[in-house]
Amino acid sequence: MGWTDERVALLKKLWAEGLSASQIAKLLTGVTRNAVIGKVHRLGLAGRATPSRPAKRPVRVARPRPAAPASPAAPRLRPAAPAVYQAEAPVLEPLVLDTGATATVLTLNDRMCKWPIGDPADNTFAFCGRAACSGPYCAEHNRVAYQPSAQRKRRAAGEAGSEELRRMLRYASM
Ligand SMILES: [Zn+2]
Repeated sequence: MGWTDERVALLKKLWAEGLSASQIAKLLTGVTRNAVIGKVHRLGLAGRATPSRPAKRPVRVARPRPAAPASPAAPRLRPAAPAVYQAEAPVLEPLVLDTGATATVLTLNDRMCKWPIGDPADNTFAFCGRAACSGPYCAEHNRVAYQPSAQRKRRAAGEAGSEELRRMLRYASM
């Protein structure tokens, strides 16, 4: 079956409507799908605007997503609260000696607790002055002195004070 004007007009119409070559071939009868395609090309109809088959979409390169803005409701890590120094040492007042004064570098002796109480730079600074048990401290201060945590805290309290103490004790032994 040849391409009569009628059949060509029908082909153009069906093609324009978006039918596929094989659909058109069925409707026209007597032509193969390839014949339809060949005719379409010869007629210059190939590039129709409404293809029956969806054209392959160009592969999209996934663009990196912009970082999502932080939600105000998002839980935030709160900065750790500063460690509050909690003195584990019993708050012992310096022992008042027979002299009516507290133990100082001048009155301190080997049998007295050398636990410093107060700020070495301050007038009220004194040593515990209680009877030392084993070592330089009284029983109470011994207990505190050899708690690891207490030792850490004393170190954290600063070296200046202990340096001052060493100097004072050096004077006392002279
Ligand atoms: Zn003591």
